[in-house]
Parts: sequence; structure tokens; C-alpha cells
Amino acid sequence: MEIVKRRGQERWQHQLMRTALNETERLDVQKQQQGLNGEKLFEELVMRYVDHGSAYFDLRLTVFDKEFQIDCLIVMQDDIYIFEVKWSNYDIVVKDGRYYFSDTMNEITSYSLQKDRTPKLINEFLKKHQLNYTWHYYHVFINPEQQVYGVQQVDHCFHYYTAISLLRQTSAVPCFYPHDHLHDILIKEHIVKSRHEKDYSIEFKDCGKGVLCECGTRFLEKCSNRLYTCHCGKHYSADKYLKLAAAELELLFPDQPLNVRHMMIWTENSVSRKTVSRFLSKSYQKIGQKKGTHYKKLMQ
Ligand SMILES: [Zn+2]
Repeated sequence: MEIVKRRGQERWQHQLMRTALNETERLDVQKQQQGLNGEKLFEELVMRYVDHGSAYFDLRLTVFDKEFQIDCLIVMQDDIYIFEVKWSNYDIVVKDGRYYFSDTMNEITSYSLQKDRTPKLINEFLKKHQLNYTWHYYHVFINPEQQVYGVQQVDHCFHYYTAISLLRQTSAVPCFYPHDHLHDILIKEHIVKSRHEKDYSIEFKDCGKGVLCECGTRFLEKCSNRLYTCHCGKHYSADKYLKLAAAELELLFPDQPLNVRHMMIWTENSVSRKTVSRFLSKSYQKIGQKKGTHYKKLMQ
């Protein structure tokens, strides 16, 4: 099993960790956090149960100027499997391909609409890029506590346990063909910043500094010149630490030049100027001279 594209960091996570939120923002962030918990849980299932396959998480694609997002795409047995992951605490009923709250039987229209829209766009996307694939689209209700009633096979809908058996069975057999063309297109077409994403304002000057652990809940602490750790148990080399720092600066302040000074402030002087400078020269393209020196991503 290979994870080709991981989930990127989210701007709102940084807002939560680095700025003071007002009440509305806090509620909004909480909602997003819940969705992310579901997606992370599904990611764990994929890592644990998929034997042969290539997985992409959190793809944002456009076709004919319409944007759509895919929580998880896995190539298994030469087919494309697309999973839309849902996390909620209420029980639901599936009837004739539509979704309802089990207590009131009111329709959950956002789910139903998405189920109509996304498959259409996937189809158009594949056609546009001449990707001749059989593809399958599923909704996964990932909260193991949640009940999903009335599911028929035609509903293409799974819950926690049935998703596990699908992943295990389908990934038991390796792909026969390479999928380089599909891979190139997915990576090239993925857009980094969604136009629907709320623009959380974070000011370089005022926000909390430091580098977030990939767990997203804590800042990294310096153990030695070569080692940075988090309370969650993850640890990082100095090089990986600087990579994370640079990625954060690029994500949060895309219009600000990436340079040694900004890196030093961001990492709170926990790395020597020489090491930062060496890291940037190695991984980025150096532009300008003296005070105006900054760095740009190397084309891959
Ligand atoms: Zn951590």
C-alpha cells in the first residue's frame, strides 16, 4: 500500500493554535475539527487494511471551472475507488438513494446533493483527461457508534465495519497495470487552495510562532540540535522540522518571501542561522542578493 498524497495542513488548525478566536469562529472551527476526525479515522483504516493500492487523501479538483473535493481516492485492482467520509453523531436512514435523519425522517439534503453532484464531476474530469477507468463512488459513515439503516447495495453506502471489509477484499489483489498517467494528472490538477475555503486571517507579526506537529494539536519542542519531539510521541529530525516550518510559512503567508529571517522568527531561533541557510539553499532556489535574498520552491 502506498500513500501517494497525504492530507495537507489546514489553515483553520493554525488559526486555532496561533490566534485568539471569537465565538463564531470557534464554532466554525469545531465543526471542521469534527469532520477532520472522521477523515483521520478513515485514513487509519486505509493504512491498516489496504494491502495493495495507491491512496490519495483530500484531493481538490476542478473541471470546467467547477470545483469538487475528494476525501480519499484509492486505485485498487486497476479501478478507482472514491470515498466521501461523513462523521456525525445521529443515526440515519437511507432510502432510494437519499439520506434522512432517523428520528424525524427529514432529508439530509446536503448529503443527497453531494451524491448527485460529485459523481457527475468525477465523470467529466476523467473524460476531459482521457482517463478510461471504471470507478466506484461511496459514502462512508465512519462513526462506529452511528447506526445507518436501510442500506441496499445500490446505495453505495458503507459504515465503519462494512468499509473495512470492502477495503480488505478489494485490496487483496494487486493492480495489473501501472497508473502513471492517472497519477501525474491527479497531482498536477490538485489545487492547493480551494476558492470556497474561508480565508482565515493570520498575521505574521501577531500570531503564535513555532512549528506544529503533524498531529495538529501541539507545537514541537527542541530535544537537541538534531531532534524535535511532540507529546503525542512523534519525533522529527532538524531537517524535517525545517521542512515543516517552510511548508507552514508557504501555506499561511503565500505572499511573503521565504527567507532566513522569517524562518528564524518562525522557529523561535531554535536552529542556527547557518543551518537554516543551508537548508533553504539545498531545498529551494535562491533569488536575489544580500538583504533581498529569498527562496522559491524548486520545480519537481
Ligand atoms: Zn504531535
